[in-house]
Amino acid sequence: MGAVDTQKELSVYESMAARFDIAARKLGLDEGLYKYLRMPNREIIVHIPVVMDSGRLDVFDGFRVQHSIARGPSKGGIRFGPDVTLDEIRGLAAEMTWKCAVVNIPFGGAKGGVICDPHQLSQGELERITRRYTAEILDYIGPERDVPAPDMNTNEQTMAWIMDTYSMHVRHTVTASVTGKPIDLGGSRGRREATGRGCMIACDEALKRFGRSRESTRVIVHGFGNVGSQAARLMHETGYKIVGVADIAGGVYNPRGLDVPALVEYVAETKTVSGFPGGEPIDCLAILEQDCEVLVPAATESVITSRNAERIKARILVEGANSPTTPPADEILFDHGVFVVPDILANAGGVTVSYFEWVQDRQGYFWTEADVNERLKHILVSSFDDVVRYGEKHNVNNRIAAYMLAIDRVAFTMKLRGIYA
Ligand code: NAD
Repeated sequence: MGAVDTQKELSVYESMAARFDIAARKLGLDEGLYKYLRMPNREIIVHIPVVMDSGRLDVFDGFRVQHSIARGPSKGGIRFGPDVTLDEIRGLAAEMTWKCAVVNIPFGGAKGGVICDPHQLSQGELERITRRYTAEILDYIGPERDVPAPDMNTNEQTMAWIMDTYSMHVRHTVTASVTGKPIDLGGSRGRREATGRGCMIACDEALKRFGRSRESTRVIVHGFGNVGSQAARLMHETGYKIVGVADIAGGVYNPRGLDVPALVEYVAETKTVSGFPGGEPIDCLAILEQDCEVLVPAATESVITSRNAERIKARILVEGANSPTTPPADEILFDHGVFVVPDILANAGGVTVSYFEWVQDRQGYFWTEADVNERLKHILVSSFDDVVRYGEKHNVNNRIAAYMLAIDRVAFTMKLRGIYA
């Protein structure tokens, strides 16, 4: 198999819907609410004209899908990539609704994307795409409406451009219009590390259930971007042994443990983990099947499928990425007794600190990093307990438990609000 398993067995939306169906059935969800929550509230498609550096006019397709605003403004990242599809954004938007509900923060769910290849674009072209995309969806976003954040191939700089474009249109600076901004523009301390830190906290909680120490735990991290690199760094600092990492260009494995600070330096220079001299080179899909106790898929969706789930050796799966496991693979992992910390819990650290950022921007009062980290830990540990206890009580696996808990919370607020006619 090559770098990417291109034969997707289920799309992101189909995976989300399959899990939603199981959870809704187990909850006995009202038929009308089932129909309403299975689809997004609103889907926006835009065609963005951009003058390229060459002077040529090009047109890019972009999406913003708002799944639910039942519990508050919708919240979710914006990704750039050549393979972005509306179906994927639709599935990820719904997952954001469930994620925010699992950690019980007052947001609904959304997601956005632009079909483009950021690696082929100059900074100027990226800025013009970002600003025009923002202008096209401007009427539908804002601190009380829908609050974007970074995702794959977008970063603090992208958020700064979105915040500035939004602010120029409304004629005053609105820092709470996006999260994941640079700290000097109203970003939160701890946001950059938050998703990776959340993965570590979730893993710590899982280890407690197995009575394992961090020091005796070997970890493989798949994907070395914002989420994967921070997870690997923080886990290494707290005693875990990181034995393998991979990104789209390839991987590196060392059963004695990788020198993570040296790896981080190497990536800063070369932009990839591939070729790092501190271990053996390995294919980026094959690394998923190497010996370890914990696997952190932190790259992209549908990397663990019915085609490789049998061969996963990890006992604990901490889903840093969104939707890295397909529903058929879920069943195989469950049969093999793998303890899965599902994406909507394991990677919820990012949206939780995004919520803190939004709160701080609205207050105009900024917290210390220690404060942010402590509040994050409190929310994630109690959400982890909620999900695991819910699963035990209803005799379902962690993923279905997380979905059930989330759907129940969203449905409850919808019943309280009623349907506006
Ligand atoms: P990123 O763009 O910073 O990094 C992605 C990494 O994955 C890169 O190292 C890339 O080379 C690697 N990658 C991509 N496709 C791959 C493949 N097929 N095989 C191996 N490696 C591959 O993105 P990110 O922000 O770190 O997001 C990663 C995942 O985490 C995504 O699923 C995203 O939706 C999810 N997520 C991100 C955040 C966040 O705060 N950034 C929060 C929650 C969830």
